[in-house]
Amino acid sequence: MNLASYIRDIPDFPKEGIVFKDITPLLLDFDALDFAVSSLAEWARPLSVDFVVAAEARGFILGAALARELGVGFVPARKPGKLPGETVSAEYILEYGVDALEMHADAIADGARVLLHDDLLATGGTAAALVDLVRGRGAQVAGFGFLVELSFLGGREKLDGIDVKTLIAYD
Ligand code: 5GP
Repeated sequence: MNLASYIRDIPDFPKEGIVFKDITPLLLDFDALDFAVSSLAEWARPLSVDFVVAAEARGFILGAALARELGVGFVPARKPGKLPGETVSAEYILEYGVDALEMHADAIADGARVLLHDDLLATGGTAAALVDLVRGRGAQVAGFGFLVELSFLGGREKLDGIDVKTLIAYD
């Protein structure tokens, strides 16, 4: 299946000069959604993970489906101030300023094997923060699966040594 045909370019979003890759046409089509989740699950199954951890907000969509498919639990990594319990946090640099992702401090057991997921890999800042968050809890990053990769931005370089899988890449 040609998954790329379900990704729509939206020029000048969220600001002028940026061409946003919109994944909602893929979510709208059951066959495309099913193929995407099954393909990521097929890659991830041999990694034998204990949890899937995904980044707010679009990472939650396929992340939870992937966890269900793999038969493991799901951990949301959220923007600051959203989780009700005690949290741990990892910061990352944005074009203008700093943001962070938080996870419940008791979400992942020491030594757990974790699969990370986000919808799209761009510069890799968000992904690297997710890795820091999970490793900071003493867990092991078994792999990182994305739906889309903007290869020309070189985000993979920030994920050195990690098993990275992307279903759609733009050179
Ligand atoms: P990075 O931190 O790698 O620069 O950016 C990746 C994060 O920004 C991901 O969480 C992703 O959801 C979001 N993102 C950046 N650009 C796009 C885009 O063109 N399309 C989508 N769907 N998400 C994007």
